[in-house]
Amino acid sequence: MTERNLQIVLARRPTAAVTEEDFRIVEAPVPEPGESQFLVRNLYLSLDPYMRGRMSDAKSYAKPVELGGVMVGAAVGEVLASRHAKFKPGDKVEGAFGWQLYALSDGKGVRKIAGRGVPLSAYLGVIGMPGVTAYIGLLDIGQPKPGETVVVSAASGAVGGVVGQLAKIKGCRAVGIAGGPQKCRIVVEELGFDACVDYKAGRLAADLEGAVPKGVDVYFDNVSGEIADEVLRRMNPFSRIPFCGSISEYQRPEPRGLRNIRSLLVNRIKLQGFIVWDHLNGWPAALADLERWVAEGRIKYRETIAEGLRNAPAAFIGMLSGKNVGKQVVKLA
Ligand code: NDP
Repeated sequence: MTERNLQIVLARRPTAAVTEEDFRIVEAPVPEPGESQFLVRNLYLSLDPYMRGRMSDAKSYAKPVELGGVMVGAAVGEVLASRHAKFKPGDKVEGAFGWQLYALSDGKGVRKIAGRGVPLSAYLGVIGMPGVTAYIGLLDIGQPKPGETVVVSAASGAVGGVVGQLAKIKGCRAVGIAGGPQKCRIVVEELGFDACVDYKAGRLAADLEGAVPKGVDVYFDNVSGEIADEVLRRMNPFSRIPFCGSISEYQRPEPRGLRNIRSLLVNRIKLQGFIVWDHLNGWPAALADLERWVAEGRIKYRETIAEGLRNAPAAFIGMLSGKNVGKQVVKLA
């Protein structure tokens, strides 16, 4: 094969905000599959907030990327060559193929994509890890009941957009919190939430109060920080908080505390942190429901698509600061 592989590797560990200098692009030969392996040409790469954690060697639930190692990440691609019994050339697959144009795989953790009329990139977002995160976090941990109020932060994003739509399917009032009027308009008019609070408008406390007249029964927390603190003041007795992410903290050298943490005690709130990869048993049912609801048009989604592997670092940095609307992916081919 005359093609060369392009890879984005971790050049150094950021201590605060990520910069493009933290990455390096390198060339390598396209590898040949060995026994029980196959070669994938990546078509779309997923960019996700968790990757910020993998750039750091601070203690976490997963090992960091090695310095000089290829950045981790899910991608969808096409099998080009195979010495694996279950994968053949032409198969469309999704797996942890990394920030590169070509990847070898032994098939572990790889799913074949039937692609029932849904674009391939959707298998990285709404019918992928972020969609499953919304599904398991809201339904299993948040336990929403009809008539309850569900609030979700980063509401226009890959996870948040699905959370609000699942809340509507379950008969709840869905309230988003997002940055800017354009995102809030999309959350209400396109995704069908009942209301959306623009936290960048400078009236978070008043706008939130207006949006949740009956208080909050489930707060799906994607951001932590000041937004979570404000929502804590409005939680109902025996409400639930699926604690999914804390993106407002990821780029800070020092974490901040929550001022209103006592609300947990006073209101007997159940707060549970979760990592979607601990719930692998729940993935098949979640993916089947999400794929069906997307195909039926019951769940809508947005994507922000960057072009070309070389633009992945800039797109990743943009996503961390809110430049994306919906799922951030990179089109590679
Ligand atoms: P998004 O598509 O939501 O993109 C990130 C968004 O975060 C931005 O668009 C921005 O939206 C928002 N954001 C960035 N900085 C801040 C800030 N300082 N304050 C408030 N919002 C901010 O990402 P995902 O949907 O993929 O991920 C959402 C969250 O879910 C993340 O925290 C992520 O780590 C977490 N997650 C957790 C998983 C788990 O297993 N626990 C699995 C997957 C994701 P805006 O413009 O509205 O500010």
